Amino acid sequence: AIAVLGSTNMDLVAYVPKAPRLGETVTGRAFRTVPGGKGANQAVAAARCGGQVVMIGAVGADEFGVRLRSALTAAGVDTAPLRTVEGASGTAHITVDDEGGNSIIVIPGANAAVTGLESGDEPRIAAAGSLLLQLELPLSAVLAGARAARAHGVRTVLTPAPAQPLPAELLAATDLLVPNEHEAAALTGLTDPLRSAEALLADVPEVVITLGAAGVLYAARGRDPLTVPAPRVRAVDTTAAGDTFVGALAVALGEGRPMPAALHWASAAAALSVQRHGAQDSMPTRAETDAFAAA
Ligand code: ADP
Repeated sequence: AIAVLGSTNMDLVAYVPKAPRLGETVTGRAFRTVPGGKGANQAVAAARCGGQVVMIGAVGADEFGVRLRSALTAAGVDTAPLRTVEGASGTAHITVDDEGGNSIIVIPGANAAVTGLESGDEPRIAAAGSLLLQLELPLSAVLAGARAARAHGVRTVLTPAPAQPLPAELLAATDLLVPNEHEAAALTGLTDPLRSAEALLADVPEVVITLGAAGVLYAARGRDPLTVPAPRVRAVDTTAAGDTFVGALAVALGEGRPMPAALHWASAAAALSVQRHGAQDSMPTRAETDAFAAA
């Protein structure tokens, strides 16, 4: 099973020809509210790809919270440890332009109330094969999750987003770090992905840097780095491409696939997701991913 300790956000998405600059007003094409949040997105991606997934985190006591929980449940994610807390759910205010590029403001809401583990969370983490972590919860919770996973020999997969300096203890408890190229550059100060990956190997045993349409770069201590190109597709919305990739990768690794095969399969899942609008709505099923990965 896969445990996710992370955020739930309602994505408030504005589709625009071109994103406004500071002080500028543009007329958009459409508006949608769709369930998101990096934690929930990774949970849904993994569940749709065939994983057995449990989600730890919080939603607010509002309409968004009800929808966020039911979106997870509908995807087959176990939401028993997902708390409902006072106040607003997390929201993400997203602008998607005609090129498929996005810019995002996140307001944590209920996610900010998750400051550590509650009783029952640790056994769930201990029972999982891997724990997926991101940085949209308070660091104290991310650290508590990583410590629990480490204590029980569970593989921790950390998506260091949104980019921020990482405490040494968190890196020390991370088995696989999956930054995109901007996050990797923010962590190391190096813009070249290969050098960046090498620098990160000082802190973690395995790194996957996602490179958008250029695919992924995998590096592990004592092994030659590996590049897996992305399938060539027409991207309409790259929101949650990275989360889809991580969710699918966790499923493939959980099934014991070797890293190169797992990277290929997860790249197929992510390439499918960028061809559709939305975050969780855009995530492929296992059958779709199998078919596309084999093509
Ligand atoms: P993030 O979504 O976190 O910014 P990336 O942009 O690196 O991360 O995308 C994550 C992964 O999604 C990529 O490594 C790739 O597998 C896939 N992906 C993203 N954009 C494209 C694209 N235009 N074509 C094919 N695959 C893509």
